Amino acid sequence: MTRRVLITGGASGIGLGLARRFAAEGDRVALCDADADAVARMGDALRGAIAAVADVTDEAQMAAFLDRVESEWGGVDVVCANAGTGGPAGRIEDLDYADWQACIGVNLNGAFLTCRWAARLMRAQESGCIILTSSTSGQWGHPYRSPYASAKWGLVGLTKTLAMELGPAGVRVNAVCPGAVEGERMDRVVAMEAAASGRPEADVREQYVRGVSMRTWVTVDDLADTFLFLASPAASKMSGQIIAVDGHTETNAP
Ligand code: NAD
Repeated sequence: MTRRVLITGGASGIGLGLARRFAAEGDRVALCDADADAVARMGDALRGAIAAVADVTDEAQMAAFLDRVESEWGGVDVVCANAGTGGPAGRIEDLDYADWQACIGVNLNGAFLTCRWAARLMRAQESGCIILTSSTSGQWGHPYRSPYASAKWGLVGLTKTLAMELGPAGVRVNAVCPGAVEGERMDRVVAMEAAASGRPEADVREQYVRGVSMRTWVTVDDLADTFLFLASPAASKMSGQIIAVDGHTETNAP
């Protein structure tokens, strides 16, 4: 069955990987991203997809995107609330309130508009699956990244709560907690954490592997495998679950 799959933050990284994998399954894909260049760069990579420039924290931009999807599709089967940003790094004493709010804004508040829209449609159609992208920082805490870790813990609360609210309507809600994905985003994060903690970049980078039992990074495909499973009939009785795909985190402490 062709599914209608909506992904936020879908123009790069994990979101783009998800879009490609769902499209490869024959599903219809709609994605939004705040980065207009990244949306433009996608070009023909996802022919037939709805791709829009929209910031998940901007109610008017999201309404325009979500209204368009609703009018073209009439409903939605899978929603991946995935857009996120690493936020600032530093000891809490040194953080600016504005940076704190911006990080909570994208990672937590940003999921609200998407989930509210999905809940309305899915409750009415009595089916659907919402998957939120949290993080192992949302299960463990993360030194020098308190805004990010707090936002990702917030998504765990949102997942558990929406699973309760929507379960009676046959709608499933789960969260995936990625471990560190090697790539540009982690390069930025490692540099930021090294600067904040005064440790060498190599040490911070190595910590991400040292802290997991399997001594590994994860790949976008590892994550996509789990999203596809959660969206499939094989997971039809799974809801309210927080699933780490991380090689088993033992600690986030330096
Ligand atoms: P990424 O930076 O490669 O991609 C994130 C995408 O979201 C970008 O295209 C960006 O433009 C978009 N985005 C950012 N703010 C937005 C906003 N306000 N509105 C709409 N789009 C916005 O990062 P990624 O690794 O693909 O991250 C995807 C999700 O996975 C995020 O929620 C992130 O916190 C989470 N995550 C990533 C890792 C990792 O190691 N990469 C680990 C744990 C969790």
